Amino acid sequence: MAALASAQGPMSATELLAKLSEGKPDSAIGIATIYRSLKLGVEEGRLVAVELESGAVRYEPADLEHHHHFLCVECSRAFDLKGCVSDLEDLLPAGFEMTSHEVLLHGKCQDCRRAG
Ligand SMILES: [Zn+2]
Ligand SMILES: [Zn+2]
Repeated sequence: MAALASAQGPMSATELLAKLSEGKPDSAIGIATIYRSLKLGVEEGRLVAVELESGAVRYEPADLEHHHHFLCVECSRAFDLKGCVSDLEDLLPAGFEMTSHEVLLHGKCQDCRRAG
């Protein structure tokens, strides 16, 4: 939970495992444990699953304010963005009502841009 709360954005189970195993080569944490904890977190309402790409589920704390994500096309990491887009309602055809929305930005993160 703490690892997810301090993350720059939602993380997948494999990313979380890599982060938790950092500097602990013989750590006993397995991917099954991660999946179990994540599932439990969602059931308890502490985590939410976000699916930014089909088939790739990431997790983030449930208590974050409304926000959107940036997905790096190079390293596939997801980052939280602050705030929202205004005037989305202006895009609606006449007579339509918006009940929720998703905004996903794609591009290269700072690390990947530095790497060239
Ligand atoms: Zn990147
Ligand atoms: Zn929004």
